[in-house]
Amino acid sequence: MILKSTPQLFLKRCGGLYFLVFVLTGCSQELLVKETRVLMDTYAEISCYSSDRNNAINAIDAAFKETKRIEKVFSKFDEDSEVSKINRLAGLEKVNANEEVLSLIERSIYYSKISDGAFDITVAPLMEIWGFVRKHQSIPDRGAIENTLKSVGYHNIELNLGELSIRFLNRGAKIDLGGIAKGYAADRAKDILVSHGIKNGLVNLGGNIYALGKASGGRSWNIGVQDPRNKGKLLKSFELTNKAISTSGNYERFFEIGGKRYSHIINPVSGEPCQGIISVTVAADSAEEADALSTVIFVLGEEKGINLAKSIKDIEVLILTEEGEIIAYP
Ligand code: AMP
Ligand code: MG
Repeated sequence: MILKSTPQLFLKRCGGLYFLVFVLTGCSQELLVKETRVLMDTYAEISCYSSDRNNAINAIDAAFKETKRIEKVFSKFDEDSEVSKINRLAGLEKVNANEEVLSLIERSIYYSKISDGAFDITVAPLMEIWGFVRKHQSIPDRGAIENTLKSVGYHNIELNLGELSIRFLNRGAKIDLGGIAKGYAADRAKDILVSHGIKNGLVNLGGNIYALGKASGGRSWNIGVQDPRNKGKLLKSFELTNKAISTSGNYERFFEIGGKRYSHIINPVSGEPCQGIISVTVAADSAEEADALSTVIFVLGEEKGINLAKSIKDIEVLILTEEGEIIAYP
């Protein structure tokens, strides 16, 4: 996704890190302060408009620290994370875990229920056998897939938010919150900006974007969705104010064997990477909702995906199929 309305009146580099752009918003002169870091296995960019440069820098730093904190809690690569602890132990016994993780798991199960199981965080063992965790991808044989599918299914998760515990009813079960955690983190980073008094800003965690308030000149944020087949072209632009947008695609995280592309989004019923769609973009009220629903619709495919979208309030959807069809809802 690209941001089309970045103002270019004056660009300055500060401390090697922050980009400051002076712009006119309404009557007062404001600065656009922007920083990019690598977080949650992706590029994270946070920008905000403010007449108080130091406050903007502090707000952005605090928002990145919050993202880093969330990364440490949810990372499947960090053995000390809450998610790794759950994956190690919850198949053997009831495990206590922090409320933040358990609540996100509960909300993930909500998306499983509304999608008839298309969204399922227990795809983790499938992600492993397809090599998306080790990053040495290979095609597992059907027997291995069938065997792994025995551990998959969100019904295997027994959650108790009252006593803050979780247990898997199947020993081999594991969870992967990769389809929702970046959206959640983008919302929390936005909350941190707001708590610092920032009214206008943009949080972008690897394509999971929250557009806070307005962009330059008091206009909505204009987020263009690139055509992955032709990066110079836009599929569509979204005008967003206090809204989020997320894209799930098979063109950034995938592998190819024998000319065939295997996406990192797995169908929890067949155990195979999803096919048929190149990208799904969803605009919604929160980045978490946009993130989860873009993954959901990627798995469901265009027909079932649009049917589900029709039952959800205030969302916009854009689908690009492998056949080149562009489907927009509404
Ligand atoms: P996204 O890029 O938000 O669509 O999320 C893709 C990520 O979600 C993958 O890299 C996995 O970590 C995870 N994932 C893969 N398949 C599913 C699925 N069917 N349901 C939920 N999460 C999934
Ligand atoms: Mg997602």
